[in-house]
Amino acid sequence: MAKQREPRTAPHHIAPPQPQRPVLSNVPQFLQLELQVEQEYRPQMLAALEEKVNEVIERSRDCAPTCVHCGRSMGYHDTRRVSWLARFGRVVAWVPRYRCGLCKCDSRPVLELLGVEPGRISGSLARLLTMLAVVAPYQLAAELAWLLLGVKISPMGIWRVAQRMGEAAARYSEGLSKYHSDSRSDPTLSQAAPGVVVLGVDGCVLGMQVRKERRRLRSEVALEALPVVETGHFREVKTGVLLLPSERVETSPGRRSLVRRFLVSCLGDADTVFSHLWARLRDLGWDLILLS
Ligand SMILES: [Zn+2]
Repeated sequence: MAKQREPRTAPHHIAPPQPQRPVLSNVPQFLQLELQVEQEYRPQMLAALEEKVNEVIERSRDCAPTCVHCGRSMGYHDTRRVSWLARFGRVVAWVPRYRCGLCKCDSRPVLELLGVEPGRISGSLARLLTMLAVVAPYQLAAELAWLLLGVKISPMGIWRVAQRMGEAAARYSEGLSKYHSDSRSDPTLSQAAPGVVVLGVDGCVLGMQVRKERRRLRSEVALEALPVVETGHFREVKTGVLLLPSERVETSPGRRSLVRRFLVSCLGDADTVFSHLWARLRDLGWDLILLS
């Protein structure tokens, strides 16, 4: 039996260094320089943007709007100051308001023309913030909004933007379903139909925390954990995916990827998700023939 060797004690033994926890918080200096330059030129960009907005407002004065209720031409009423948050800061504009003498309703057509809502975040900035919100938690998305876009916004602000964009996406999806479920919708769309499409539908049951009021953090003490979701408060989020096999690309030998997917999602029953998918199919020019 071989004699067990004594553990060798090297005279110059050095202990391995303590493991260091990696940190992500360091913001590269170049990113800070980019941000600095952007902040420096931001007032000029905002002024140039406001100038263009004013040009649109001036051109809009040429024709008075017509009332949506009675169809009469609306008269000029007054000019009000409005503002909205854009990529380069808060845009301030003086916008004319028109009034129908008969219906007493107001209209500010130039705001519709510009596609902005007073006091809100502009559509382009909202889309950029939503992109951050879908890839990062709200807190991190708010930090990234400052670092990447130079926009100061709270995590709650990011949440609100994501909610509004989600609502708009849901409205569009529902509108599309309604349009295609109507037999009078445009039949010419089916001309450029793809050869094959693939459909997949699945659902995920989520517990709904139903509360009358939103919880607010009133002190530094963390909020209590949410209560266990009671039976009957579970709902299924259904998601459908539609893809075209012809749009598969070979990203590397033997490995394929999809160029795009059409996704629909809803908190409804099977009929709702299928009507959303059906609308997307129709939009691609497909017409389902049900065989019985
Ligand atoms: Zn009217």
